Amino acid sequence: MNTFDSTLTIVGAGPVACWPHFWLPIRNVVTLIEKELIRSPNSRAIGIAPLSLEILKRIDLDGAFISHGISVEFSEAHARKMRLGKLNFSGINSDFHFILSITQDKTEEILEKAVKARKSITFLRGYRAESIHEDSDHALYIGHNA
Ligand SMILES: Cc1cc2nc3c(=O)[nH]c(=O)nc-3n(C[C@H](O)[C@H](O)[C@H](O)COP(=O)(O)OP(=O)(O)OC[C@H]3O[C@@H](n4cnc5c(N)ncnc54)[C@H](O)[C@@H]3O)c2cc1C
Repeated sequence: MNTFDSTLTIVGAGPVACWPHFWLPIRNVVTLIEKELIRSPNSRAIGIAPLSLEILKRIDLDGAFISHGISVEFSEAHARKMRLGKLNFSGINSDFHFILSITQDKTEEILEKAVKARKSITFLRGYRAESIHEDSDHALYIGHNA
């Protein structure tokens, strides 16, 4: 059985758990457990909104995201050779006047690298949490290597 001494254990290292807004305020020792040995390359979420880019800018990750994505300043819907409508992002009240299109596996790769750079976070890939037992002063996580 593996034992980890951490104040907080987070199960699942998807984009939400790795998002800086979530872990930045945490000053304690954190263990992040991810069951998959390799990240899914399949297409899923592809859009980063200006507000999210502002959060990333605070920790100097905006450049990494922008360099790996496509900045979409406007988008148009067409049908039967007619333009149905246009969304223009240039007027958004932000430092970023576009939606960033970037694949989710790239988002996860950049965030995982940033999480791993933090000494207080232990990132364990290939570990599946199976049950967590809570006591008055501690919790016992039980799992196994994938
Ligand atoms: C086909 C598809 C298309 C999508 N398209 C869009 C889109 O266009 N726009 C959009 O905004 N969103 C889209 N989404 C949704 C987006 O992918 C999710 O919102 C996002 O992945 C949620 O992130 P998360 O971190 O909450 O969860 P997840 O990405 O699901 O991450 C959870 C992680 O926990 C791990 N895990 C689970 N159980 C355990 C365990 N017991 N032990 C250890 N690890 C565990 C999993 O392996 C996974 O890596 C799409 C999703 C799918 C499936």
